[in-house]
Amino acid sequence: MPLAGYAMDARHSRGRRYPEPSHPYRNDFARDRDRIIHSRAFRRLQEKTQVFTVRFSDHFRSRLTHTLEVAQIARTVAAALGLNQDLAEALALAHDIGHPPFGHAGEAKLDELMRAHGERFDHNLHALRIVEQFEQRYLDFPGLNLTFELREGIIKHSRSWTPEEFPEAAEYEPALRPPLEAQLIDLVDEIAYNTSDIDDGWESQLLPLEMILEETPRLSIIYREIDRLYPAARVKLKLLETIKRVLDHLASDLISTTEKNIVSHNPATPHDVRRFPVSLAGFSPDSASWSAGLKSFLHRRLYNHPDLVEERDRCVTALEQLFYFYSEHPGEMPPLHAALAAEQPRHRVVCDYIAGMTDRFLMKEHARTVGGAAS
Ligand code: MG
Repeated sequence: MPLAGYAMDARHSRGRRYPEPSHPYRNDFARDRDRIIHSRAFRRLQEKTQVFTVRFSDHFRSRLTHTLEVAQIARTVAAALGLNQDLAEALALAHDIGHPPFGHAGEAKLDELMRAHGERFDHNLHALRIVEQFEQRYLDFPGLNLTFELREGIIKHSRSWTPEEFPEAAEYEPALRPPLEAQLIDLVDEIAYNTSDIDDGWESQLLPLEMILEETPRLSIIYREIDRLYPAARVKLKLLETIKRVLDHLASDLISTTEKNIVSHNPATPHDVRRFPVSLAGFSPDSASWSAGLKSFLHRRLYNHPDLVEERDRCVTALEQLFYFYSEHPGEMPPLHAALAAEQPRHRVVCDYIAGMTDRFLMKEHARTVGGAAS
């Protein structure tokens, strides 16, 4: 399918920081996608928590498999809208690479620790530093040397910000919207976790079926319909079919609502998309409230479940202790980080080192250092 006029064509990219010759059969966004897949930060997603730490089970989503689900939905939605699938896929694959260990709780703790030094920790900004500085795999440039649109999509993922907040990101024009491919990612992310977390929540036995049906009325209508058609089927299969239909409904709604917005505002180019005062990608009010209902149910019953909170608190305490430990003993970090800590603000080097860790490595390091000293 040809790209729509409002789609981001790789040939119109603002390009890379370090110019490179074009590739004979991959466009620049396809190359960006491949570089992300080959990065260490991407591989480390396999050992980072989505909701459940590895202690619970090894068949729940990790941040890596969640990312693959987001990429798959993003490609489908982008294709249906005539958008650039390579760009949407690359942005989806990169959307969580800046996450520190232990998900949002780890991010909040690192932010708190950095605020004590008058700085911040933000996973989007961290992702940008990963792709610009920390990844070292090419002879001719630091980082992955991604296109402007990839870097812009990373820093504009999930929220807007002011130039005062992130002065280092001023080149990404915070007053403008990113292209539609980037606008989709946050919504597709929401579709992915609101559905998969119901699945993993039920599978973990932290969310009983009765509770799900009672507290998510729209989902329960679908479940009861399936139950009427397949009364003898296993609950697990009926629930999976329900979740599949919810996902399909939300993705279809995202496509049709975004399409309507495109038709009524008629952007001819990505430039028009950028200059439009609000995002053109979105859910209908009905689906937005359905999705918000699922999100608040998951917060109430799953993310704040005592078993998860206890595990999370234990992990976040380990992260905090490790932060103080390295700050006092920078020589306990690998030589490269130890050397950096002598030149740069130590808390920044420690924060970057910890943020890059997988959950498992952090707990192992904690046991080797703080844990060993305490016991
Ligand atoms: Mg995500």
